[in-house]
Amino acid sequence: MTEDFLAFHKPFISEDEIEEMVDTLRSGWISMGPKTLQFEEAFGNYIGVKNSIAVNSWTAAGHLTLEAFGIGKDDEVIVPTMTFPATAEIACYFGAKPVLVDVEDETLNISVDLLEKAITPKTKVIIPVHYGGQPCDMDEINALAVKHGIRVLEDAAHALPAVYKGRKVGTISEVTCFSFYATKTLSTGEGGMICTENEEISERCKVMRLHGINRDAWNRYNESGSWYYEVVAPGYKYNFTDLQASLGLAQLKKVDLMWQRRKEIAQRYTEALKDNDGIRLITMKADRESSWHLFPIRLNLEALKINRAQFIDQLKDAGIGAAVHFMPVHMHLYYKETLSLDDKDFPAATNAFHRLLSLPIYPGMTEAQVERVIDVLTSLLSKFRK
Ligand SMILES: *Cc1c(COP(=O)(O)O)cnc(C)c1O
Repeated sequence: MTEDFLAFHKPFISEDEIEEMVDTLRSGWISMGPKTLQFEEAFGNYIGVKNSIAVNSWTAAGHLTLEAFGIGKDDEVIVPTMTFPATAEIACYFGAKPVLVDVEDETLNISVDLLEKAITPKTKVIIPVHYGGQPCDMDEINALAVKHGIRVLEDAAHALPAVYKGRKVGTISEVTCFSFYATKTLSTGEGGMICTENEEISERCKVMRLHGINRDAWNRYNESGSWYYEVVAPGYKYNFTDLQASLGLAQLKKVDLMWQRRKEIAQRYTEALKDNDGIRLITMKADRESSWHLFPIRLNLEALKINRAQFIDQLKDAGIGAAVHFMPVHMHLYYKETLSLDDKDFPAATNAFHRLLSLPIYPGMTEAQVERVIDVLTSLLSKFRK
């Protein structure tokens, strides 16, 4: 193991975050307060959406959205299998059924053809996931949703920022949820954001993120002072904090700069690796721009003497961290058993899973580190060629 191990990911934290955090600590207000409001407003302005509701994770954001949609136990929610299980588990919270759909082999985004085939009279919601940061075929997905009276919640955990046909992700469908988890493109440690133009959805999510406390009721009966509150539904404890908002405010100021740097790394990787037949890159569609949250590659196992797990170990021994995004949801024990799923019904995702690994791609990487990843990867590919 070399001394200078290149981690798979490092958040891009500088003095700005530290100063903003110290300012919050000195202010005496560390839970949800003025900085959360400021962050929500700044985030909404950045995306170009009217309502932004900050919560403590994408999972909370997705849960609150499905609650606001009125999802119940006989409903079906369509989810691509190539995602983090949170995308599917939020349907289970309501006793609803996550209906898993295979992905396109080229992009690993949900296949629109298979999505259409999965629609039944019980389908209430479609949750497209912008895999790695490349937007899904949103026009086709939204057209299907309108045709069948289905709602759309975009899982944009990877897609800050990303652009689809000139429109920023977050402005396209009824609701879009972002994640600010430690490894995501903007991080507040943990966190999430619900973006929507729909005022009713926005209000319901705001009420339910904090115990079902209705601020309108609070205003209405407020004559006796600020101690009064009224609970209108059994809500959740999903609120954001001003400590998280401190990180968010500082990170948001450089969100485009961080994107620019990831784009440069992606370009360099693509240039250096696109003609290497030991691996296969994700196909990028021309009418959209990825956030480049991830740089996934697929090993050409037929040409190699080692498998994916061994390849990741080799990278690690050479001082490079890699990760796998994702083990498809249909392969996880719970979903496989409760939904009686078979790998054969998800050929693209199953096949991709055995070959997938993600290379480091984050703004703190130096040119030399990017070149080292390319050198180590290409020499391992030739060393273990059959
Ligand atoms: C990270 C991630 C989530 C969950 O985000 P949290 O903020 O950790 O709840 C959901 N979907 C995808 C695709 C993710 O990568």
